Amino acid sequence: MPGHPPLTRPEFAPYALRERADRPARAFRLTLAFMVLVILTFVAVEGWRTWRDYQRAYATARDSVANLARATAQHAEDAVRQVDILTTELRERVEGDGLANIDIARIHALMVEQSSLMPQLHGLFIYGPSGEWIVTDKNRPPDQANNSDRDYFIYHRTNPDRGVRIGEVVRSRSTGELVVPISRRLDAPDGSFAGVLLGTIKVAYFVEYYGAFRIDDRGAIVLALRDGTILVRRPFNPAVIGQSLTESEIFKHYLPLANEGVAEVKAVVDGTYRLYGYRALTSYPLVVEAGLSRQSFVAPWREDLVKTGLVLLMLIAGLTGFGAMVLGQLRQRMRAEEEIGRAHQAMRDMALSDGLTGIANRRRLDQALPEEIRRARRKGSTLALVMVDVDHFKRYNDTYGHAAGDECLRQVAAAIQGNLKRPADLAVRYGGEEFTLLLPDTDLSGACKLTDEILQAIRDLRVPHSGHDAGVVTASAGVILGTPSWQACTPEGMIEAADRLLYEAKREGRNRLAYRMTEEDRAPEAQ
Ligand code: GH3
Ligand code: MG
Ligand code: MG
Repeated sequence: MPGHPPLTRPEFAPYALRERADRPARAFRLTLAFMVLVILTFVAVEGWRTWRDYQRAYATARDSVANLARATAQHAEDAVRQVDILTTELRERVEGDGLANIDIARIHALMVEQSSLMPQLHGLFIYGPSGEWIVTDKNRPPDQANNSDRDYFIYHRTNPDRGVRIGEVVRSRSTGELVVPISRRLDAPDGSFAGVLLGTIKVAYFVEYYGAFRIDDRGAIVLALRDGTILVRRPFNPAVIGQSLTESEIFKHYLPLANEGVAEVKAVVDGTYRLYGYRALTSYPLVVEAGLSRQSFVAPWREDLVKTGLVLLMLIAGLTGFGAMVLGQLRQRMRAEEEIGRAHQAMRDMALSDGLTGIANRRRLDQALPEEIRRARRKGSTLALVMVDVDHFKRYNDTYGHAAGDECLRQVAAAIQGNLKRPADLAVRYGGEEFTLLLPDTDLSGACKLTDEILQAIRDLRVPHSGHDAGVVTASAGVILGTPSWQACTPEGMIEAADRLLYEAKREGRNRLAYRMTEEDRAPEAQ
């Protein structure tokens, strides 16, 4: 129910005033939200970009190692195949002629010619059934040379397999170089062991080829036998040759499942984590691995990350600084507006309250009365207005002095205000020793009852008044009830009617109230 609240309640500040006071607060919240949003957006976009760059760097690295493995595998296959073809042809010839009947000079010349054509070839050799050197592309075999102790020799002697065999790296007896032996068994016409045909590939040939790839120091390229024995590795270190990779993850977990692929694993040789492309050759029992350290492809990305991170940090710092400045100014403005609001409220309170008694003043009534009349009409409710006037107050002043008169008025005002029961009821000092009550939604008997109580409360103050028959300060009142059907119900009309009734009460002896419904006022005139 709408009513007349205490004057000091700020929520009754006019809407426009509140609106204005809210504006900086809203701007503050909006600015803060906007800044947070901008910063979050920056961070999100940069975060996403960084993540995408990392994915790209990783994908590029995967492609690189896969390509590297493919190139290395192709290279190894070509190198071995040429020697393989050559040994096949030579065996054809040697077995056809019989080892005892071969033309050593011609075979030697053929071998010399072939090795000059193949850069990977270190040498070509034919050994007899006891390991003795029969013919080689070298000009002069070492004295008393015998290769029966060599791994490949023992293998072919004890194994009838006629396929090509790729052996572990050995140091050449003719030149001292590290070589990969590619060998075949020679059979006598009766199928018995007749010797070994050997072509050797220089390890240096692979080292040179692997060295030409542009990968960083931590990268690795490995050529190994299918059983895991290392033949060549970049970075080149002779001590690594012959080591076994059987315990490496690629040999243990990846190669059994697929002949080629990419895997990020820890190298057994040097313990470095790398992204490896691996490939097992299909035609020869060889495996190649090409690995890039995570460092090598993450480093440029990380560098970029640091740079953009710094720029982002600077941006955020700038934005935060700027935002803090704007927010600081807004807060200052908010504080100023709050002060203005408080001052407004104080001024309003002052303007609408009575300086002597502290209750509302006539201006307040001038505001409230038309509003209440409108509201009563709208709702079809009644509205009571009471004029209260202190009896013989002039005499009181004359007897007790003006200051006592003022004090008396204060007490009367407090008695009136203290007897109001509903929040909607309003009491104002109309002027001098006259007070007005505005009682919305109240019927005549209710208004009279309340007025009676107020008059009694004034008597109960027991303020002595020697110039008055009652002996104490009393008051008289006129009570008028406005009803919705009373068309002439206006602020002036109601006050006038209540005033008339007040004087009626005065005429009838004071210290009492007179009342009437507005219709009754009109009724005699209308007839
Ligand atoms: P009645 O019973 O007919 O109302 O007689 P009355 O003397 O009260 O009426 P009147 O209107 O003749 O006198 C009102 C007096 O109230 C006049 C003035 O001296 C006194 N008065 C008005 N305002 C104040 C005030 O603020 N302080 C004091 N002390 N006296 C006031
Ligand atoms: Mg008066
Ligand atoms: Mg009076």
